[in-house]
Amino acid sequence: PTLAELDARVSVCRACPRLVEWRESVAVTGRRASFADQPYWGRPVPSFGDENANAVVVGLAPAANGGNRTGRVFTGDKSGDWLFAALHRVGYASQPTATHSGDGLELSGLRILAGVRCAPPENKPTVAERDTCAPWLDRELSLLAPTLKVILALGAFGWDSVLRAARRLGWTVPRPKPRFGHAAEVTLELPDGGTVTLVGSFHVSQHNTFTGRLTEQMLDAVLSRVRQLGDG
Ligand code: SF4
Repeated sequence: PTLAELDARVSVCRACPRLVEWRESVAVTGRRASFADQPYWGRPVPSFGDENANAVVVGLAPAANGGNRTGRVFTGDKSGDWLFAALHRVGYASQPTATHSGDGLELSGLRILAGVRCAPPENKPTVAERDTCAPWLDRELSLLAPTLKVILALGAFGWDSVLRAARRLGWTVPRPKPRFGHAAEVTLELPDGGTVTLVGSFHVSQHNTFTGRLTEQMLDAVLSRVRQLGDG
């Protein structure tokens, strides 16, 4: 399939009963009061951005009142406010804000995907849900591989999702398993002889940004490195 076909197929996936129930119940009865008058997406959230990206961001899963509401990854929540402002500063995003799927935002050179594509309760997918959603990640990474140079994993969950996908796709991952850390880097070798660099970043979650564990300077530095690797 093409990336557009993949997006269309994933948006109707119902493979995880607990997540189907959660994403739909939030859309019906679990709305935040400030969004009470808005339609909710309530379905799997497809990837967003450049189909010929040399850089990919892999997050955890959509937020119940963020991507699960707006239908676009990281759009309409505090994590996304941080991420898109930083992506704009480094030149990937056409504007610093992402409020809804028709806000005109475009990404150039970069695509954002989630390791799990439906909003999970408490942002915690189960191991079974992670594994059930993995084929969507595998298919997307293999479609992007011809232009891909760098993957930025947000948080340990994203880092591990990428390493597992890389092994399934036959990419060579160093052993012992590379450890996640902010600004950690590891080179993955593709069967055709090409390489993709995996870069780690603390997740842009409110927990990390409110506490100062992740600062704007730290995020800008890691995104500048991604840009350097992607454009190089
Ligand atoms: Fe399908 Fe992934 Fe959503 Fe599970 S999490 S229902 S596999 S899109």
